Amino acid sequence: MKKINIAIDGTSSTGKSTLAKQIANKLNYIYIDSGAMYRCVTLYAIQNNWLNTSRFDKEPLIGSLPNIHLKFALNEKTNDQTIFLNGVSVENEIRSMEVSNAVSRVAAVPEIRKAMVRLQHDFGKDKGVVMDGRDIGTVVFPNAELKLFLTCSAKVRAQRRYEEMQQKGISVSFDQVLSNIKSRDHLDSSRSDSPLIKASDALEINTENRSVDELLGQVLELISSKINS
Ligand code: C5P
Repeated sequence: MKKINIAIDGTSSTGKSTLAKQIANKLNYIYIDSGAMYRCVTLYAIQNNWLNTSRFDKEPLIGSLPNIHLKFALNEKTNDQTIFLNGVSVENEIRSMEVSNAVSRVAAVPEIRKAMVRLQHDFGKDKGVVMDGRDIGTVVFPNAELKLFLTCSAKVRAQRRYEEMQQKGISVSFDQVLSNIKSRDHLDSSRSDSPLIKASDALEINTENRSVDELLGQVLELISSKINS
């Protein structure tokens, strides 16, 4: 059957990854979480003491990009597809507040974006990829056959994220999560390189009062019409 690429963009916790994973499962597509890639680069910078709340040494990080190897693979312990940074599964580490608070500064650096986009192009070259992020429909796959742009209020997004973090045992307050979401929304939308904007040909969907199943049903219909067109 013909395979297409699907781009899902939007601010954090709009439901992009839940939807993308379900599409990938249903259609046997490859799911790529592009945010996890920026989070890994951020973690690498923190591990090397190039990044903290007051300082960001971009140059050594940019110089080390060839040493940062990212791979998506099955984590046999959790039976989930996760990202590996230089051979190590770092799924939990990259979701920490420390990484969340710093990632948008790292993701604004053009050299870093260029390296990530190169990898993302490679992942999508054979089609059959569903990728979520901020610039997938505008920059990474401007020719994606289906582009979605998900929206939802900051309060509802913060509540979703807060509950997820509670379940994972991460100690954080609702206000910290809300403030992180608002600050990333601002940085991601206002940066000069590849800001978060809706592609002109993307379909905007508000996920606030939609169940996952209902949304998935709508999107699978759209995919099927794209495949058969
Ligand atoms: O999707 P997630 O919230 O994990 O993304 C973390 C951060 O990575 C975003 O806030 C944004 O700064 C950056 N990002 C990006 N471009 C993408 C995906 C994520 O700049 N395609």
